Order: sequence, then C-alpha cells, then structure tokens
Amino acid sequence: MRGLMMDVQLTIPTILRRAESLFSKKEIVTCLPNRSIHRYTYRDFGRRTKKLAAALHQLGIRRGDRVATLCWNHYQHLEAYFAVPCMGAVMHPLNIRFSADELAYIVNHAEDKIIIVDEVLLPLFEKFKQAINVSAVIVISQSGEPTPGGYLNYEDVVAGGDETRFEPFEGDEHTAAFMCYTSGTTGKPKGILYSHRSIVLHAISMMLTCVGVGITESDVVLPMVPMFHAGAWGLPYNSAFTGATQVFPGPYLDAESLLQLFEAERVTFTGGVPTVLMSILHKLDAHPGRYKLSLRCIALGGSAMPRFLIKAFHERYGIPVLHTWGMTELSPLGTTAVVTSELEQATQEEQYDHATKQGYPVPFLEIRGRNDQGLVPWDGETPGELEVRGPCVAASYYRDTESHSKFTADGWLKTGDIATISPDGCIEIKDRSKDVIKSGGEWVSSVALESALMCHPSVLEAAVIGVPDEKWMERPFAYVVPKEGQTISPAELKEFLTGKFAKFWIPEGYAFIDAIPKTSVGKFLKSALRERYEREGG
Ligand code: ADP
Repeated sequence: MRGLMMDVQLTIPTILRRAESLFSKKEIVTCLPNRSIHRYTYRDFGRRTKKLAAALHQLGIRRGDRVATLCWNHYQHLEAYFAVPCMGAVMHPLNIRFSADELAYIVNHAEDKIIIVDEVLLPLFEKFKQAINVSAVIVISQSGEPTPGGYLNYEDVVAGGDETRFEPFEGDEHTAAFMCYTSGTTGKPKGILYSHRSIVLHAISMMLTCVGVGITESDVVLPMVPMFHAGAWGLPYNSAFTGATQVFPGPYLDAESLLQLFEAERVTFTGGVPTVLMSILHKLDAHPGRYKLSLRCIALGGSAMPRFLIKAFHERYGIPVLHTWGMTELSPLGTTAVVTSELEQATQEEQYDHATKQGYPVPFLEIRGRNDQGLVPWDGETPGELEVRGPCVAASYYRDTESHSKFTADGWLKTGDIATISPDGCIEIKDRSKDVIKSGGEWVSSVALESALMCHPSVLEAAVIGVPDEKWMERPFAYVVPKEGQTISPAELKEFLTGKFAKFWIPEGYAFIDAIPKTSVGKFLKSALRERYEREGG
C-alpha cells in the first residue's frame, strides 16, 4: 500500500522559494576585489538568480547541460549555485588551484557548455581556453573595466534575462544538479555528480547534525572553504534553507582579511581546513585583543585537527571548534564530533580528546570498518578501512570506468580512510590508506604523530611519511616546519614524543623545511614529501 502523501520532489527550487519568501530581508554580503563591501537581500538575490537562469536558457542551456564556474566566493557565484540547478542544468564549480592542464581535462571531461569566470581569474582561464570548447564565456567584472572582446559580461547577461520566463525545475529529484571533481591527490580528478535530492537531504542533515551548534536563521555564516571545494561543504544551500545571513570573503582568504570580515560583519559560524585556522590563530595570538569576534562555532574538516588548535581557540578566545570529517563523495559532510549528553559530564581535557576524533555519522549515513579479516568490531581499537553508504553518498564516479574498485560488492563506498569505531559509533581516522606506515609489521599512525608534533611550542607544521627501512621495512620520518625565528633539534622532538607513544612509533629521522607542500585545498601533500625523500633522502 502506498502512503497517501503528496509527491513533492526534493529539489533546489524548493530551497530558493523558501529563502525568497521567508527570509527576503536577510542579507548576503560580499567583500569585492577592491575590498569594498557589496550587500543585498535574499529578495534581490532571488530576482537576479531567476534572471540569470532565464538568460542562460536564452544562451542555449537546457536540462542536463553543465555550466562551469571559475570563481572565488561571492554573491554572483551564489546566484549561479542556484540559477543553474533551478533551471534543471548542472552547476559545476572548477577548482581555481588546479593546473591549467587539469582544468582543461576536467572541463572537457564534464563537457561544460558555458563557463562563468571572475575577471581576476581571467589570466588562469586564458591558460587553458584553447584546450576547451565552450559555447560562451561569461565574465564577472568587479573592476568596472570593459569585458574583453569575445566574452559576455555577467551583468549584461543578468540584465537581459526575463525572470518571468524562468521555469523552475520540477522534475525527478534524482536528476543531476551539481558536480564537483575531487582534488585528485592521486590519479586523475574524479567527478561526483550530486542530485537535487542529495543536496536537499544534505542541507537537512547539516541542520540536524549540528544540534547545539547547528546553523539557524540568526547566524551569520562565512564559508572560508572555497565554493569550488565540495560545494563549500554545503554551507550556501544550508544557509539559504535556514535563512542565515551569508558573508563571502571574495578573493581574500588570508587571516587578516578574514578576521576583519569576521569582526565587521559579526560572523557567528565559519568553516575551513586546519591550515587556514592555524594562520588565523597565529594572527590572533600576535595581536591580542585587536579583533572583537562574535564566532560561536568554527567547523573544521578536510584533514585531522591537532588538539592544540581546539584547545587554543576554546581557552584563549572562547570559541568552540567542531571537528568534522567528510569527502567530496559524501556531499561532503560525513561525521561531526558533537558533544553528546554523556560527554557533557566529562572533564574539559576529555572533551578536547573527544574533539580530536572525527565524531559521529550525520543522519542518513551508515558506517562500518573492514580489515583483512572482515568487518571490524566497534571497539574503538581495531582499525579498518571505513566504508559508508547513504542517500548523500556517490554511487559511482562520472564517466569513470575504474569506479567499481571504489565500491564494495554490496554497494558501500570504500573511503580509503583507516579508522577505528567506538562502541557508540564515534570514528577516529588514523590515516589515509595510502599514507599508512607499517613498521616491523605494526601499524603507525602518521596522523597521531603529526598532531603530537604540532603541539610542540616551536613547531608550526609537521607531516610524517613512511620511508623504506632494511630492518623494519618502513619507518616514520618527520618533516617539520619550525615557527619563525625558532630552532629545534631532532633530539628535542624525540624527547617530546617519548612517553606519548610506543617506542617504535617515534621517528628517528627528521628534516626541517620551510613549508609543507599543500594540495589545492590546503591539505598536506604527502606524495610530494615522499618524492622529496626519494630525491634527497633524510
Ligand atoms: P581529496 O581526496 O582530494 O583530498 P576531499 O576533499 O574529498 O578530496 O578529501 C576527503 C578526504 O580528506 C577524506 O577521505 C580524508 O582522508 C580527509 N579528511 C577529511 N576530513 C578529515 C578529518 N577531519 N580528519 C582526517 N582526515 C580528513
């Protein structure tokens, strides 16, 4: 027997309608390239979004067509985030930190039909435009300079769109809406194709998950995470759904600019990767009392979070940091280290310990771990590769014949992350499977060593890789970036780690370098360190 409920599909136009009708006076704020502030309301945003959709239709975009963006975080990017899927086409933000070759590969692989480019990113676009084939290039000009010949001007395009001709997509919620390529730390970038349904469910699960820290209408949300990285973690859709004020930093993602914007716009919620947060912490520490912050939560993810960072923000600035784990394949939020009622009774130090774990799965997500013997027990001790499934998890990659190797026979995604699961379902990521270090047959967690090293007062950053060893097969080797003006010796670091780990975990080899190489989204690029070790040795 079928239920007798309305068959209303979960689509992005439902989010747009809600934002426009319920939160019409709430603001969307952007820091423009010339550092002036642009502000308008959800009402203005809704009107322009519909005009953009109508204009894209006039330019030949039809259902299922891909529209790419090469943009920073700003209000026009948000307009594209909604206009493209709301007309039934597929929004495709490009990672501006990819190389020109990778970008050309991705645009061709996705068969993007139109590309929207920030004027300030035209030099990057010019590097690969000959290698792609799009029917129109739309330039968002923020300087007021004329748009170069052959390109369309974004404002002219929007002005020419007739919003009364906008036809919101009302079809099957499983229809493709949004596409992202993973940052490709290994192999070619892989395309993930989200559906309307997965985006709406993800927005709902974000609200539910962060109970206690969840985004509400009264929040002012600033995504530090770029809109080209896993859809800015879903924050733009979630904020529009809840009616939160949105603040976009434009091209300014340095600590000083972010802190100024946090203060000026009274930002209450932000999210980003640990490297960005670390630079913010250093800035705050260097200028005590300079910034008056209203932040009530910083969501952190993308790589493991060192304990000192959580503690420093909480103790020195009274800001709780919420550790999250996710993957582009998961829309992207997977787990959050929320404080359960049981944990509320724990000591502060125990709560910091908990916050370094990746936490509990978001609603709709199921988890399990697997090692060579089969599924691992939920004992908080036995590591295994984390497998997940849920309605916001990719079922395959876009046009990729190798897809099947990433999924189990019964349809779970193999995350490539090695984790333990506690009896109550809290996960702790120990390593990425490709970064795992096996010394004398025993497994060593590079993540745990890195977190500990970064607690040393003279260490700015540290990354640990496995290097070949005749006796033990592999040994951990640490690359360390000292803080400015400080020197540290390997003996000092060994001493610092002693007692914190089993003896065989402690690296004998250390190299001191100026910076840890990073991926396009600010994660440690360990493959580059492994290559460096092969070239230069310890
Ligand atoms: P890429 O695979 O190119 O880095 P993603 O941004 O999708 O692209 O990264 C997902 C991966 O990032 C996860 O599989 C995991 O290895 C890592 N990751 C994300 N969040 C965390 C976290 N909180 N702790 C440890 N690792 C994390």
